[in-house]
Amino acid sequence: MYIIMLGAPGSGKGTIGTEICKHYNLTHLATGDIFREEIKNQTELGKEAEKYISQGKLVPDEITIKLVEKQLDELDGAVLDGFPRTIEQASALDSYLNSKGKAITAVIDLNVPDEDLVVRTSSRVICSNKTCRAAYNTKFMPSKVEGVCDVCGSALIRRADDVPEIIRNRLKVYHEETEQLINYYREKELLEPIDINIYSETTREDTTAKTFNAIDKRIAE
Ligand SMILES: [Zn+2]
Repeated sequence: MYIIMLGAPGSGKGTIGTEICKHYNLTHLATGDIFREEIKNQTELGKEAEKYISQGKLVPDEITIKLVEKQLDELDGAVLDGFPRTIEQASALDSYLNSKGKAITAVIDLNVPDEDLVVRTSSRVICSNKTCRAAYNTKFMPSKVEGVCDVCGSALIRRADDVPEIIRNRLKVYHEETEQLINYYREKELLEPIDINIYSETTREDTTAKTFNAIDKRIAE
């Protein structure tokens, strides 16, 4: 089973991806982690990727595709997070899976209204103590005492780029990047849009349930 995760920064893509892995016994493949691991191990592809990353450039599709395929070779199924990012990557993934007699099960598209993401992301705070790093949200998951970490008592800080203007810009970039990919998978009838209400008391449970339903429906087909 192969699931692709789409969702804007802050949509909870990583969290829901992890839940899917636990429930269906799959491996979480996040492109960022793969890059870090390959660079750490100084593999041939890792060294190639590092050349681009160290210059602040995007790793070319060709290298990214090879890295992901290398990981997929060792797995029976996966939840893909951060890949594919372009139509070229999507079509390479199709050919790869096809050559193995496999196919994508579903593309989960987590939909959170942009302004809700701006509210939630701009109220994120983390513990300033580097060995603690506990995460809070002043609106949705506040610490017991404002500005103080529940775990270690250190001050809570906001990331410098978690301000509305920068968040809105990140979302704009995300939508521009992803629009084509969403159309590509919609045309292939693989897209499963999941609407998320971040103001519900049970957001995480609701989203997980909706996602599992969508996947189960696909498996039953
Ligand atoms: Zn702390």
